[in-house]
This record gives sequence, C-alpha cells and structure tokens, in this order.
Amino acid sequence: MRSPFAILREIRRNSRRVERNRFDRAQSAGFVLFAFIAPLVVWKMESLRVRETTSTLMVLRAFEMLDDAGRAIGVRATEIDPKDRGAPWPQSLPLADIDFVQRTVWRGWPLVTSHTEFAAESKVTRLPACPAARVPEVLRAARIVIDRKGVAVDADTTRTHIAAWVFSSGAWWIMLSMALAIVLAPIRLAWFLRKETRTAVRQSRIGRCHCPSCGYNAKHSILHGRCPECGSELYERPTY
Ligand SMILES: [Zn+2]
Repeated sequence: MRSPFAILREIRRNSRRVERNRFDRAQSAGFVLFAFIAPLVVWKMESLRVRETTSTLMVLRAFEMLDDAGRAIGVRATEIDPKDRGAPWPQSLPLADIDFVQRTVWRGWPLVTSHTEFAAESKVTRLPACPAARVPEVLRAARIVIDRKGVAVDADTTRTHIAAWVFSSGAWWIMLSMALAIVLAPIRLAWFLRKETRTAVRQSRIGRCHCPSCGYNAKHSILHGRCPECGSELYERPTY
C-alpha cells in the first residue's frame, strides 16, 4: 500500500512536462505572496476609500405656542413633511425648522468592509421670528418629539462586514496576480524572443561548422575542438 503522499509526489513529477522558467516561478511566488498581501490592501483601502452619506431621520418645526389671548406660553415642536421646510404657517408663529440627521461613513473597496453610523444630530434653520438666543429652547422642544418617536441615536456604532472582507480580499488577490502577469508579459516576450534569436544564430553557425560563439569559420579546426579565434569549445553543445 503506497502512501497518498507518494502517489501525489508521482502525479506531481509526471505532470511537470513543461519546464518552468524564472517568470513562471515569479508568477507562482507572487500568487502565494499576494494571498497574504490582499487582506492588508483591503485594510488599507478602509482609510483610502471613504464615502459619507447623510440621512434625514425626521424633519420638525418648532413654533411658539400661544394661548387664547395670543400670549406666548412656550416652544413646541411637531413633525412636518420634508417638503414643507421653510413654508409659511399662517395659523401660528413658526420659529425654526429642525433636520434630525444621521451621518454614516462607509469604508472599503471594492465592497464596503465597514461602516460607522454616527450619533444623530439636529440641524436648526432659524426662521425670521427666531432670535439666536432661542435655539436651546427650540432644540429642547424638538428633542421631546424625537424621543417620543423613538428615532434618537445617541452613540456611534461601527460594524465590520466579514463577508465583504473575504470577497474583497479574494478580489484583490486576483487583481494583484493579474497585474503581475500583465507587468511580466512584455518582459517575458522580450526574453523569449532574445533566447529564440540566440538559439537560431548558434544553430545556424553549428550547421555551417562555424564557431557557435563568435561565428568564425572553424572548419579546419574541428579536430582541435577549440575555436582558434575565441577559444570556445566547438564540440560540446553549448548550454543556452
Ligand atoms: Zn569562436
């Protein structure tokens, strides 16, 4: 009973029909190396590819509450339709429009590998009837409505997307390997052409009984075995 490793070794040995040159080896080494580099690139892309979005959770209007006699009795707020921002309100005294917004930062490429949702904040747009000093009152009134609706977000939360990490690492692994292949291709071709040209020249010199190295007509020096011009071996098939 042969061990499975022995069988694998034999398969491997018998599969090596084509000689691997230095470029094939570089490509293989790159492929292995990039498996470790790809996650680092994904990690780096988290700081290089950052997109930010803002979503409006709620739009409110703060207004002066009036009693029957028309006296101000405090600031109230109510949710309004986003398209009614800044619209006049004939039946009461509007003070400000409040956009309750949340910023989200998305990081990573090609997929989003993590994102952070920041605590939501109120952006106050004062209307003509509202002096700057009343903004804290406006915010307090808005906050009551926001809490009642339950849309408040008071802490930043960051989430990592594991599946996106795995996919992005794989994508970078493939992209880096392909980039190496593309960079190597012209060098590979030039090297191949040079080798082929060199071989063709030497073969033709050998065919004419000339010295393969310098091209000197060595017909009369064949028995000496050495080129009288450059001293290189004539019989031994050169390794090229
Ligand atoms: Zn020679």
